[in-house]
Amino acid sequence: MTLFRGTVLDTPDDPFTGASLRSEADAGLLVRNGVLLERGPFAQVRQQHPDEDVVDLTGGAILPGLVDTHVHFPQVRAIGGLGMPLLEWLERCALPEEARLSDPTYAASVAAEFLGGLVQAGTTTALVFGAHFAPAVEVLFEQAAVVGLRVTSGLVVSDRILRDDLLTTPDRAYDEGLALAQRWHGTGRSRYAVTPRFSLSCGKDLLVACESLLRDVPGCWFTSHINENVREIEAVRQLFGVDTYLDTYENHGLLGSHSVLAHNVHPSDGELALLAARGASIAHCPTSNSALGSGLFPLRRHMTSGVHVALGSDVGAGTGFSLLKEGLQAYFVQQMLGEWGLPLEPRHLLHLATAAGARALGLGDQVGDLSVGKRFDALWLRPRTGTTLDVALRHAAGPDDALAKVFALGTSGDVAGVWVDGEALRTTATSPPPSDPPQFRHRQDI
Ligand SMILES: [Zn+2]
Repeated sequence: MTLFRGTVLDTPDDPFTGASLRSEADAGLLVRNGVLLERGPFAQVRQQHPDEDVVDLTGGAILPGLVDTHVHFPQVRAIGGLGMPLLEWLERCALPEEARLSDPTYAASVAAEFLGGLVQAGTTTALVFGAHFAPAVEVLFEQAAVVGLRVTSGLVVSDRILRDDLLTTPDRAYDEGLALAQRWHGTGRSRYAVTPRFSLSCGKDLLVACESLLRDVPGCWFTSHINENVREIEAVRQLFGVDTYLDTYENHGLLGSHSVLAHNVHPSDGELALLAARGASIAHCPTSNSALGSGLFPLRRHMTSGVHVALGSDVGAGTGFSLLKEGLQAYFVQQMLGEWGLPLEPRHLLHLATAAGARALGLGDQVGDLSVGKRFDALWLRPRTGTTLDVALRHAAGPDDALAKVFALGTSGDVAGVWVDGEALRTTATSPPPSDPPQFRHRQDI
């Protein structure tokens, strides 16, 4: 057994229904076989268990492992393509890079960078948009299993509109998806997600194939995009001849409590009611929405409609892996909405980045907070001495104030340790040798 010692912040109860931040200074968390067995004042737990190994995480804060409900594996190197709306960004930035993952060796190096980015950010669970190529998705699952992250992912499928080398057929999408699901769904910490890219790039026959796969792999997940960009929405409605974007998924039996749809920046009231009725979740990706100018997310309308919402980084339209930054941007967006916005406090941001994500992924009974009985998925946020976050935390007025400073100032660089099932994951990227400083190409080299 291992006894973790430190200051713990988490949100086991939903702040959106009035619950407070739970904080415990100098707590002791006793972990055996990955499960939290006891939690209380360190001195008290230590007295009961004087011989157990202690992992001293005093200073900074221990948070539940972060849960990213929407992030694209093939887009690590596409981060930072600013200045374009969605469809232009896809064509110019994302899709050329995604096509390179047809080479499994290239995909393997991207997978390592991708998983490293998640771990460094303190993300322990993720719903990952895979690649358009089955061997690349295979590589992602293989590497995720080695790293130890909880990953739900799948083959991304499309059969129109995108560049030809990213297209598949309904039969091939089903066969390749089934083969991947048979190997990885329920294997270790991995699960499979049926993943049509978005209705714009998926014909009806392909969505029928997705429905078949969803039915034939019990317990698997469904993820896609919805209502991100007004031009995209209009094109989808015309292509399918439907009233709402959501109808394209509903009409193919793809909506349920295992469904997580990214964005939903421009929903109708009817779509919100249907999402709530189906128990589907929305992955809110605020830096992506801001970077692409997609719009300001109507969180209040989601909440009043009873639609469950969690956070996603949406790398690479999102500007990085850190859900601390996504939390801050979610706060900004609600502020910008004025009277239409839902003012967020630090406890809401932590909840969106942890327990809400766990619930969206059906893992709320296992992870998302650090209660007795949960798995010990956690991160240690410990800024270097003298950094602005360090100064801010040392002068914080209390736990809520400290958490506000974490979201205002925290970065992946402040994550000093990450655990899944009580096992420490490597947090630092492999350092280049001194003779190999970071290089970027100048225009004449491209
Ligand atoms: Zn996305």
